[in-house]
Amino acid sequence: MTALERYVAPRALGEALELLRDGDVTIVAGGTDVMPQSHSGKMKFGRTLLNVRRIPELAGIGLEGDTVRIGALTTITGLLESALVRERLPILAEAADHFASEQVRNGATVGGNVCNASPAGDMLVPLIVLDATIELAAKPNGSVEARAMPLQEFLTGPGRTRRAAHELLTAVRVPLPPRGFVSRFYKYGTRPALDIAAISIGLGGVRRDGRLEKVRVVFGAVAPTPIRGAATERALEGRPLDAATIEAAAQAAHDEVRPISDVRASAWYRQELVRNMTRRLLEDVARG
Ligand SMILES: Cc1cc2nc3c(=O)[nH]c(=O)nc-3n(C[C@H](O)[C@H](O)[C@H](O)COP(=O)(O)OP(=O)(O)OC[C@H]3O[C@@H](n4cnc5c(N)ncnc54)[C@H](O)[C@@H]3O)c2cc1C
Repeated sequence: MTALERYVAPRALGEALELLRDGDVTIVAGGTDVMPQSHSGKMKFGRTLLNVRRIPELAGIGLEGDTVRIGALTTITGLLESALVRERLPILAEAADHFASEQVRNGATVGGNVCNASPAGDMLVPLIVLDATIELAAKPNGSVEARAMPLQEFLTGPGRTRRAAHELLTAVRVPLPPRGFVSRFYKYGTRPALDIAAISIGLGGVRRDGRLEKVRVVFGAVAPTPIRGAATERALEGRPLDAATIEAAAQAAHDEVRPISDVRASAWYRQELVRNMTRRLLEDVARG
């Protein structure tokens, strides 16, 4: 077993990527997952602890054409304070508002939430609703190389992603939603504050003539990764958002999730929550 030998906090992306290429590195951003996990023995540090908080390329939120680039170091507080996020991506601000406590929000980053890949990660559900893409950087042969992929593809299981050990997540990119786009986020935890989701639901779609189009429904904490609700989406797509459609969609949501029982909730209870909260979200959208 290796022991932690050094702590580094580079100010340049290239330098961080060279350290990663040399291997056996643990990345830390806000540390709100890494520190509790290492204290509890759930994870062991590599030889090098790499603090990425000083790397400017990982910071900031900005509009690039019709895409919002959210730097990996953006904190949950940073999302809440961003006028661009509040006005153009309100589902992200809604989810950030359900995230832990102020103290945790000030440290916790979007990049950390994505790379920690918890099935209950609060940022993952709204980001998948928004069809987000993640950006990775590496420096395998002397120059910095970047690649991108849909967030949903990036997440492969609890704590598992397609990030290679020598890669750093640099940003999340979100296409600006079209005119008429409506969205909602719901999270249920057993305690109102500081709780990890027992289930979460994200919904997005374009409202036209009392119907939803291009519907995206995402469920968190009911499978190894957040999942799209394909049957729920089909039950909603292009149909009048009336009581019958809402009931059919809520039933489809109940039937298509396959949650597990754990300390937070039983599988049966999670399925009931999914049905009832899908109904409530849709009624809220239908009202206006
Ligand atoms: C009290 C408490 C309450 C919490 N409540 C919630 C909650 O309500 N909702 C929720 O979703 N989470 C919650 N969390 C979990 C945690 O705060 C989030 O997952 C947070 O977003 C992690 O971000 P971080 O910057 O602290 O990540 P870190 O702990 O620094 O890192 C997390 C993981 O991501 C990797 N990583 C970080 N940045 C990068 C990068 N740029 N490139 C590659 N890998 C990277 C690290 O190596 C590590 O594996 C809570 C945690 C605590 C301690």
